[in-house]
Amino acid sequence: MAVFTALESEVRSYCRGWPVAFDTAVGSRMTDIDGHSYLDFFAGAGALNYGHNNPALKGALLDYLARDGVVHSLDMHTSAKAEFLKTFDELVLKPRGLNYKVQFPGPTGTNAVESALKLARKVTGKHAMINFTNAFHGMTLGSLSVTGNSMKRGGAGIPLVHATPMPYDNYFDGKVPDFLWFERVLEDAGSSLNEPAAVIVETVQGEGGINPARAEWLRGLADLCHRHEILLIVDDVQMGCGRTGPFFSFELAGIQPDIVCISKSISGYGLPMALTLIKPELDVWSPGEHNGTFRGHNPAFVTATAALRTYWADDQLERGTGAKGQRVESALRHLAGTLPGDLEVKGRGLARGLGFAQPAMAEQVASSAFERGLLLETAGPESEVAKIMPALTITDQELTEGLDIFADAVRSVVLGGATA
Ligand SMILES: *Cc1c(COP(=O)(O)O)cnc(C)c1O
Repeated sequence: MAVFTALESEVRSYCRGWPVAFDTAVGSRMTDIDGHSYLDFFAGAGALNYGHNNPALKGALLDYLARDGVVHSLDMHTSAKAEFLKTFDELVLKPRGLNYKVQFPGPTGTNAVESALKLARKVTGKHAMINFTNAFHGMTLGSLSVTGNSMKRGGAGIPLVHATPMPYDNYFDGKVPDFLWFERVLEDAGSSLNEPAAVIVETVQGEGGINPARAEWLRGLADLCHRHEILLIVDDVQMGCGRTGPFFSFELAGIQPDIVCISKSISGYGLPMALTLIKPELDVWSPGEHNGTFRGHNPAFVTATAALRTYWADDQLERGTGAKGQRVESALRHLAGTLPGDLEVKGRGLARGLGFAQPAMAEQVASSAFERGLLLETAGPESEVAKIMPALTITDQELTEGLDIFADAVRSVVLGGATA
């Protein structure tokens, strides 16, 4: 471990909770250099929805590399990009009646968010954004300006401006009608609200604590945006690509956002890749106005295409995610029902969490789970939620095993005796 503490910046974070060195990974298991095996309920923070080194994707990637397929090409035309675009249109957009132009904004989630904010400002000529309490949209300045977490915001070192936060669904525990404040300040000439270009929202807040918005809340938001001519951006970076069941997390609500940000699991293999999906009439970019060296990472296009063909030609994965999500939910409800204290069961699909009234307990659960061979992270403004995000391809047996370990870890922390 000495090499990491000596040479790697203090900014490192995940590795602090899992102080081993990982070496190989297959499916839902990671193995460290000493041969210890860990079950993965973390899934690359949502970047590994199809598991580690998925053989269908690996085969396509190895074939592509073996035949000297182009790896780097900025945004030149390549066969790998053409195949991806055709497949994405045929298997994802068309069957859902969606019509979007595809922008490759640079290979990370925050790139997709930055380009969405820029484009919304260019289209509307307005600068102000509306974001939501506990939102997470990435680490670059524009994305941070619409992110809630005060510690992350503090890292900017400059004022983060041009965004106004509104209460996310259930922020007032159902005691305040949806959008009461938002509608009021929009309509009141004395409110001092700057006219917003766009609203940016997650349908389920991942980093913010696994908070799902209700379908009717999302429909209400889409309707409000429509009535006030505000663009609607859905950040589906973490909850897209099937995490909640359907390919896009907003399908449940039946809404069609103006702009959609996709990243994390779109390459399917953990290779960096991001998309900004744009309603055609909003595609007013000038050539090169949002640029980037790594917008044509062809190996990611190859694995993305293989992932779509393997998992999105029918609804088997989606139904499996629904069923597995239900199993996680009932296990969590059972656990919460048999333990003292206020444990909150949260989430949708295979984005699940257990919230603790005493925030420190969630971190203790994560480290206790790690000692038992299970990887999971925490979420929420005070890291008060133990987050359960297995690969969508996890087997039923592995899911049972992980849920048993999780239950043991929670019991040991809640009932005492756990050291963390
Ligand atoms: C992870 C995440 C981002 C940022 O993605 P990066 O690839 O880390 O830049 C943005 N939005 C959401 C909802 C995310 O979960």
